[in-house]
Amino acid sequence: MVELIPSQDAVMQILTRTGAFREGHFVYPNGKHSPHYFQMPLAFRYYDTARVLAVALSRKFRLEKDISSQLPKVAVISPSSGGIPVAFGVRDALNAEQIYWAEQEHGERMFRQYVNQGEVNPCIIVDDIMRSGKAIEETVALVKTLGARMIGCGAIVRFDMAPNEIEGVPIKSLIDFDVKMYEGDENCAECKAGVSPEQVRF
Ligand SMILES: [Zn+2]
Repeated sequence: MVELIPSQDAVMQILTRTGAFREGHFVYPNGKHSPHYFQMPLAFRYYDTARVLAVALSRKFRLEKDISSQLPKVAVISPSSGGIPVAFGVRDALNAEQIYWAEQEHGERMFRQYVNQGEVNPCIIVDDIMRSGKAIEETVALVKTLGARMIGCGAIVRFDMAPNEIEGVPIKSLIDFDVKMYEGDENCAECKAGVSPEQVRF
């Protein structure tokens, strides 16, 4: 049976329909302007769309021999709360044995206490969106402290400024997004067109 992975267009339609992808004129807390904005939990609040997205991403992982050959003895790991529904969906689709998620405590990414006790399977790190890649890189470092090996890495959306591989492991994504981000209002097309800006939290 051929397992189809939806096209980038089909995934963008889901994100647009659920409000997870917005077009307009957005200003970030760091002062940057952008004509688009992603708020991924809006797509993951519906079970049906969450499932479609997670299953699609899981299929990309299953194509990797290093992953498929180790299932179900695999751990799916989320760098933050945003990736938790992705991690549960991917775990479910792959029937992977373990799931973990990191959180920010006092500005530092870490796992809950005692998680390092016991054996951690080879890991797939998944997130809802990869902007700079920093969250995933920090999580790779965390995974090493658990003594586990990273065998896969991916996100529903990957910004084109993010790396496409980490330590030799290719990053899987359903959408590779061409980001438009302007420093301040000088080069912003929406400012020039007089579109009123909307402040976004992060
Ligand atoms: Zn602007």
